[in-house]
Amino acid sequence: MTPYALVLHGGAVTLRPGELSPEEAAFQRQGLRQALQAGWEILHQGGPALDAVEAAVRTLEDNPHFNAGRGASLTRQGEAELDAAIMDGRTLQAGAVSGVRYVQNPIALARIVLEHSPHVFLTGDGALELALEHGLPLAPPGYFQTAKTRQQWLELAGQEPTPLSGHDTVGAVALDQAGNLAVATSTGGIEGQRKGRVGDSPVLGGGTYASNEACAVSCTGDGELIMRGALAHEVYALVKYRNLPLAEACQAAVHLRDDELRGDKGLIALDPHGNVALAFNTNVMRRAYRVGEGEPYVAIFRDE
Ligand code: ASP
Repeated sequence: MTPYALVLHGGAVTLRPGELSPEEAAFQRQGLRQALQAGWEILHQGGPALDAVEAAVRTLEDNPHFNAGRGASLTRQGEAELDAAIMDGRTLQAGAVSGVRYVQNPIALARIVLEHSPHVFLTGDGALELALEHGLPLAPPGYFQTAKTRQQWLELAGQEPTPLSGHDTVGAVALDQAGNLAVATSTGGIEGQRKGRVGDSPVLGGGTYASNEACAVSCTGDGELIMRGALAHEVYALVKYRNLPLAEACQAAVHLRDDELRGDKGLIALDPHGNVALAFNTNVMRRAYRVGEGEPYVAIFRDE
């Protein structure tokens, strides 16, 4: 039997000691555990990887302690502009949305793009129109804001975003019992980003990629770097064309052109054999996985 598995991230970031309070870390661990359970249950019942990654990411989007859906980073204008992508490793079908406002679960909208539209990537008002047509739950701008993101917005308003701007984007990769891979990634981008800025998360091959031929990959970190390195596709290419073991491919991708692509980078990956890889160059990456009926693993700091 295929060793079904689910791997999640809740963002990779470089933090100063004490910057993440024990209370916030506890909320994030709990959120990862909940999302892991939501996606794992589907795989355990024999459901598809695509459903599992969507369910896990929806759970994290609904959780205000992560930068996706509710709790997303705000633009300089103080609004959440949400990006998400989902990809089916079996068929290479994919759906992506960017610059979406009012949609509570951008990953559900990306799934609708995948299933009900002839397109792959919709942005802004066009994406919102599709959400309205399909009756997805909407919410006013205040729903997405939290005390933390409002405070960050006040501090950053008017400044250029820095590479340290919080990365708690969420992502999931899954392998189901039929041997199919899938990936989903969702984000509010980086704190204080310009209106209209889009990062790597919804870009296929940038921050999100899945193919049964090699692996499923979801990235987090400085989106500008991840896109320029096409890191999700880099992992795929290293596995497929160089036959690198998944963990080595992930390490190589994180360190690709380190001099030019200097900044925070993290990724999670799974291959069709159920190998799990987690690679990051930061001191924090919220992460979790469960393989088959094995014990769930949940961690935040590098050295745990
Ligand atoms: N990669 C995301 C972006 O640049 C941010 C993150 O990982 O938190 O939009």
